[in-house]
Amino acid sequence: MNNMKIFRDRVAENEPGIGPSSGFRKHARNPAIPMTTPPPPHAVARLRTARLARSAKPFLARGGSTRTRCEGCRLPVTHCTCAWRTSVPAGAGVCLLMADIEPLKPTNTGWLVADVVPDTFAFGWARTSACPALLALLADPRWQPFVVFPGEYAPPGRAVVERVHVEHADEGRRPLFVLLDATWSEARKMFRKSPYLARFPVLSLRPEQVSGYVLRRSRRDDHLCTSEVASLCLALAGDARASRTLDAWLEVFTHHYLQARHQLPPALDGDAHARWRAVRAA
Ligand SMILES: [Zn+2]
Repeated sequence: MNNMKIFRDRVAENEPGIGPSSGFRKHARNPAIPMTTPPPPHAVARLRTARLARSAKPFLARGGSTRTRCEGCRLPVTHCTCAWRTSVPAGAGVCLLMADIEPLKPTNTGWLVADVVPDTFAFGWARTSACPALLALLADPRWQPFVVFPGEYAPPGRAVVERVHVEHADEGRRPLFVLLDATWSEARKMFRKSPYLARFPVLSLRPEQVSGYVLRRSRRDDHLCTSEVASLCLALAGDARASRTLDAWLEVFTHHYLQARHQLPPALDGDAHARWRAVRAA
């Protein structure tokens, strides 16, 4: 088990045997997909909009730019998932610190965390400065931040924990999971060069937690993407329902994403949607 891989956002970015579908046709909207108004933009959507506004040239998503994408889920409108999006109350919050390009990737799964977890915050990371709103959040006494990162990379003397224990929980403090949403090499740099995170404990996910997680989900490799790391953290914090919902939501997203790349309609009676319905009904 390689903990180093856990931050890699891997949804289909390197799916073997599937090339960019440059010939994607503009299908009419699938009548089986309920029409829906895109939900109001959440933290990651707002960060994406701000990042796009700073771009000198348009960002071309992998697979070509000819598809009409939904603003609510970033998928081609033929494969929109917005009709199923649901947020679930959670005691914990998630703070996504995102590498520069991350909010622009249509496969970024921090987006899915923001879909499900009501208190999801998202900030762009920069080496030279930290956003004042991020510093204010980290200093907010209502939250107990944990920096989620493999403990072996913590410098000597840094508190490393494997459980979520909130000091002063009786005063209303809630766990806030700080996730470094980036490639592994970027995440290591972010971890080393963010002095404002140094006062918070490092939450190190144990290999057995990760492997147990890998066993119970439907995919077979051991790379965890950002939403899966968030799901594990939520489970550790006792937010089981939000954790399961996030897992099922990732499956629905992945299914729709891959079907779009294959130019096939999403299977609304398939495994991913069946699991989603089961989690919602539980
Ligand atoms: Zn959508």
